[in-house]
Amino acid sequence: MLVSKLYAPTLREVPAEAEIPSHKLMLRAGYMRKSATGMYSYLPLAQRVLQKIETIIREELNAIDSQEILMPIVQPAEIWQQSGRWDVYGAEMWRLKDRHGHDYCLGPTHEEMITTLAHMDVNSYRQLPLSLYQIQDKFRDERRPRFGLMRSREFIMKDAYTFDKDEEGLNKSYQDMYDAYSKIFTRCGLTFRPVEADSGAIGGSGSHEFMVLADSGEAEISYCTQCDYAADTEKAELNLIEASAEEVLPKEKVVTPDCKTIADVCAYLKSPVEKSVKAVAYQSEKGLILCFVRGDHEVNDIKVINTCGVNQLEMAPAELLEAAGTTGGYMGPCGIDPEKAIVVCDQSVMKMHNFCCGANEEGYHFINVNPGRDFTPTFVADIRLMQEGDPCPRCGGKIAKARGIEVGQVFKLFTKYSEKLNATYLDENGKANPMFMGCYGIGVGRTMAAAVEQNNDKDGIIWPVEIAPYHVIVVPINIKDEAVKEKAFAVYAELKKAGIEVILDDRDERPGVKFKDADLIGYPVRVVLGKKTLDNGQIEVKARKTGSIRMLPADDFVDGIR
Ligand code: ATP
Ligand code: MG
Ligand code: MG
Ligand code: MG
Repeated sequence: MLVSKLYAPTLREVPAEAEIPSHKLMLRAGYMRKSATGMYSYLPLAQRVLQKIETIIREELNAIDSQEILMPIVQPAEIWQQSGRWDVYGAEMWRLKDRHGHDYCLGPTHEEMITTLAHMDVNSYRQLPLSLYQIQDKFRDERRPRFGLMRSREFIMKDAYTFDKDEEGLNKSYQDMYDAYSKIFTRCGLTFRPVEADSGAIGGSGSHEFMVLADSGEAEISYCTQCDYAADTEKAELNLIEASAEEVLPKEKVVTPDCKTIADVCAYLKSPVEKSVKAVAYQSEKGLILCFVRGDHEVNDIKVINTCGVNQLEMAPAELLEAAGTTGGYMGPCGIDPEKAIVVCDQSVMKMHNFCCGANEEGYHFINVNPGRDFTPTFVADIRLMQEGDPCPRCGGKIAKARGIEVGQVFKLFTKYSEKLNATYLDENGKANPMFMGCYGIGVGRTMAAAVEQNNDKDGIIWPVEIAPYHVIVVPINIKDEAVKEKAFAVYAELKKAGIEVILDDRDERPGVKFKDADLIGYPVRVVLGKKTLDNGQIEVKARKTGSIRMLPADDFVDGIR
């Protein structure tokens, strides 16, 4: 490739909305251009990087016998209605209608669609285990798209799904995927850490997020400096509760006269309604409900106080609603502002709730719920987030904090979707059982952005070699000097022949301009040819990362560069 032909329009002025290095640098260096909020065109340099990440992903997933497929982006509403997520997914789901008025969405994820596939075509234990993946655009109408490719509305995701006969099979599939993820992110040259993530009702080690460590990361990680405990904020919070479950569990029943809001509950229990992180537990006849309310706000401000979350997006099953004596309602965020408040009720904490109350409108969450009959608040406590220096919930060691970018997540779904969408198989005895599923995502664009976030300096990007758009740039100091030009093209040809991905800056520009562009774009190696050094039979080789310069013989350099 010749730089004179490269479509990488550099920018002098970076749009003010670009706040973090990766976003700024990829705009400045001509990797991408915005088309609308949270939507980007990937220009040739970005496309090369994305394809390299995708190749690494493909190689590692194929190595564990996961098979690539491609499902439609547009998904019919019916399958989402069947899973119960159509009504509760909320504004993040991009909905559309066809000319006949039928409802569809642009896939934010593909559990429903893949489970439908499995329902149709996987019938026997002989077909299991099965592991499938795709690399494709996802759509999420994020409340706050920002940081360029980090949180966009259309983004490339690798999503994989596994199907197994039983829990044992699922555990193996999960571990294979976990190991493949570790290899993928290592090969991408990233410093990352797998952390325990909250897996809703599933509990235990049901989910991990792969976090790339970076100050600009939106996620906070708590990790132990002594053992390998590491968790994201939500999970760390739950672990903290778990550790003090003895105290949290209600000792006696308290019957409240008339509580319609959490504030009522707090008032009744003489708990100050204050700016803090709170947890409220309700003892119902059906079990314990634990609600967490997070954020720097009055509890009163919280729009929604309800959930019984299997998953925060779950619709309350009719029989539960009936049992609870309510006429309707959803578990889940129901329009909740997730950055202000998270309300979680988690089986993994207590393993004993199965009651729910709620609605999808402010102020209605306790209506139709009879506090005496359906639940009794027994406990209100301040739950603070895990702090630096706290004892590790696993080994008692010291907790430290870091910021991270979630580049991937692995998740045990168990039979959640297979039951709803009838993905069953016949076992050895001819008995139908729901398949045990796992789902696994990697944000491809976010991984690229995370790599830049971790590898840059004041001059630009410093690509890890494995995902660099080109490995080497050859820069002749003066292209008008025929001898230099000729040698530059010869070096370029020789590197190419050796299988090294090389680009030649054949522009008639000042060396300073060429060096600046090369540093900004981030090629790992720069080869400079000048008249003086060539007269001495040498070429100059500079490593972008360390800045170290070596002189190599002009007629024997390939191995030195490789
Ligand atoms: P986040 O917590 O950042 O919103 P998520 O947990 O909602 O992400 P998943 O549903 O786990 O995301 O999707 C799998 C992967 O897809 C994520 O780990 C992340 O790398 C990527 N991803 C999710 N949302 C976005 C987005 N809006 N833009 C770019 N990548 C995304
Ligand atoms: Mg999200
Ligand atoms: Mg997440
Ligand atoms: Mg996630």
